[in-house]
Amino acid sequence: MKRRHFLKITGIAPLAAGSSRLDALPQTQVSAIQHFRAAPFVGTAFLDGVLNLGAEAFADLTEEEADELAVAAFRQPGKIRTGVNAYLFQSDAETILVDAGGAGAMEPLGNLLPLLAEAGVKPEDVTKILLTHLHPDHIGGMIQNGEAVFPSASVHVHQADLDAWTTEQAVASAPADFHAFFQLARSVYLAYEDRIIPFTYDEELLPGVRTRHLPGHTPGHTGFEFGSGKDALLIWGDIVHVEAYQLPRPELTIGFDMDPKQARATRMQLLPKLVESQRRIAGMHLSFPGIGRLMPDGSGFRFLAEDWTFSLDPKKEGAA
Ligand SMILES: [Zn+2]
Repeated sequence: MKRRHFLKITGIAPLAAGSSRLDALPQTQVSAIQHFRAAPFVGTAFLDGVLNLGAEAFADLTEEEADELAVAAFRQPGKIRTGVNAYLFQSDAETILVDAGGAGAMEPLGNLLPLLAEAGVKPEDVTKILLTHLHPDHIGGMIQNGEAVFPSASVHVHQADLDAWTTEQAVASAPADFHAFFQLARSVYLAYEDRIIPFTYDEELLPGVRTRHLPGHTPGHTGFEFGSGKDALLIWGDIVHVEAYQLPRPELTIGFDMDPKQARATRMQLLPKLVESQRRIAGMHLSFPGIGRLMPDGSGFRFLAEDWTFSLDPKKEGAA
């Protein structure tokens, strides 16, 4: 077969003179959307974007130590890429978003909205937004030009975070470095004010969804438990910011922790329990889609990502 003829049949374009085979290969990724089981819900993970964090973001971590931890995790030394995930849970009655990414608040973030559209979810379809806490990478996607992006959703957040971030007094007394964080939290509060439903104690928000207060990173930092049985999942919010640093060394706290001592204590108490219960977990800053389990590893922990599945119906697994 002549080359031209072969190319015509296969539809592969002949390479232009001077261009390499590599240029014709894919350079962009398929959409950062992954569905998973969390009965009675269908869960979906979205990658809103990535941030780069290094030793400078952590207390008690030298650059040398950070580089060693990076290399041990097969990452490049220097700043480490960490994901910003958001999760969606759909049932017959509800479309629940857990955190909303950081669109408009942090430069490289903001994929959530176009990815939701790609997944067939319109902003007005979202019935509830559950917030792990009020930091920009979790709430930035909720407003555009000061207006609410999700017109029908009620917003569920711990009272302690509303008190710490959204009052006029909190904004006025914010440390200079964090002023923009507080201002954004206040803007989100004002855009959703009439539909914010705070919680104070751990409670069942709706059938199959429970709150779990995990304080320290912020006063109201909260995890959410979805579903029951072996598919049950704890979304742990910001218990870990950089896997490669804080799983081998869970005592490390990040500069964004409002109460570093409490954040460390919460993490040190939670991680062994998750190993013991073999609890399925998801995290906003675990590598996308960030769903898996923890196992002990030396004096620390290791994250074992869950396998990708063809179908959410276990009987159909293997079907394309
Ligand atoms: Zn975060």
